[in-house]
Formats: sequence, C-alpha cells, structure tokens
Amino acid sequence: RNADEHISGLSDKAVRDPLTGLLNRRAFGERMVEELDRVRRYGETFSLILVDLDNFKSVNDSLGHDTGDQVLAWIGRLLTELTRAADVPFRIGGEEFAVLCPATPSGVARTVAERLVGVVSEAHPPIHQELQVTMSAGFSACPDHGDSQEDIYYVADQALLRAKDGGRNQVCAPGSEA
Ligand code: GH3
Ligand code: MG
Ligand code: MG
Repeated sequence: RNADEHISGLSDKAVRDPLTGLLNRRAFGERMVEELDRVRRYGETFSLILVDLDNFKSVNDSLGHDTGDQVLAWIGRLLTELTRAADVPFRIGGEEFAVLCPATPSGVARTVAERLVGVVSEAHPPIHQELQVTMSAGFSACPDHGDSQEDIYYVADQALLRAKDGGRNQVCAPGSEA
C-alpha cells in the first residue's frame, strides 16, 4: 500500500506520522488538492470521512499516555484494514483521522464510516487493560458538498460535531450547511 506515491517530491519523513505509520496532515492537504483537481478536470467525485476518538482524554488519564499511544496505533491499522486499497487514511491530529475515498459517492462513504465506527466499538484493543474504544465520524462528498478544500472539510467536520453532540459512537451525514 503506497498511497503516498502520489505525493511527489516529499520525503517519507515529511509526510508520515511515526506513531501510526499513516500519512500525516501535510500529506492530507496535498492529496485533497489532487482529488479536487481530478473532480475539476474529469468530473469525478470523491468523499472525505473525518473520525475523532471519543473521550480520549479519559483513556490517557486512566490508563496512561503510552497505552493511549498503543490505542492510536491500533486505530491506524484498523483504518487501513477496513478500507479499500484505493482509500487513503491519514492521522490529521492527535486523535483525529481522515479517510479520503477516491471515486466514491457520499452514500458509500456513509457505509464505510459506519463500518469503521461499528467495528471499533465492538473490538478489543490489543492492550493489557479492559477498554472499550469508540469514535465518532462525519463525512462529505465533492462536488456534492462543495468544490474547495475548505468547504469539503467544513461540511464533514460539522457532521462530526453533530455526531459528538448526538452522544458519540455514531456517524452523522452532511447537514444543511452543505
Ligand atoms: P471528545 O469525545 O469530545 O473528542 O473527547 P476527547 O477527550 O477525545 O477530546 P479532547 O479533544 O478534549 O482530547 C483529545 C485528547 O487526545 C487529548 C490528548 O490527551 C489526547 N491525545 C492527543 N494526541 C495524543 C497522542 O499522540 N497520544 C496520546 N496518548 N493521546 C493523545
Ligand atoms: Mg479531537
Ligand atoms: Mg476526541
């Protein structure tokens, strides 16, 4: 899986997060630009899924930062395993992840997001303590919900915030701001 092959001219260190091995926020920006370009040139569509771990501060507080790190690395592996080869997962913040799904309409993005959230909530992270990890997700699609990086991100992020407000461990669809 060499998703970063598309990101030309940047060293592996510059684009990869060492903890999870996923591509980082910088790579995410580069790849968004490429996908937007494909939409403009070829009339393609792509989807963005944003994921944020629920109450992750309390995981660190109760089990320690090292265990928190192990959970993050595990989530990174799951995001790769549970998505198609063409989909690209990124770690875009501390406990925030994104999945870019090329050539994917928003209905499919919803299915993918629900699978990710569902599998994580039922899985057991590979740590010594008993822990249930959940996460929340929002998604958007281009060009349905905008044709700029900012708009696509904003719509997915607002959906993610609604998933948090709605009680976490769930996926919310793009709303009226789209
Ligand atoms: P919410 O459900 O609202 O997202 O709650 P939250 O606790 O996840 O949200 P908040 O943004 O307040 O806290 C995020 C926490 O994620 C804070 C920080 O301790 C933890 N975190 C961020 N980056 C890392 C990291 O690299 N390793 C570890 N172990 N924890 C991290
Ligand atoms: Mg967060
Ligand atoms: Mg969080």
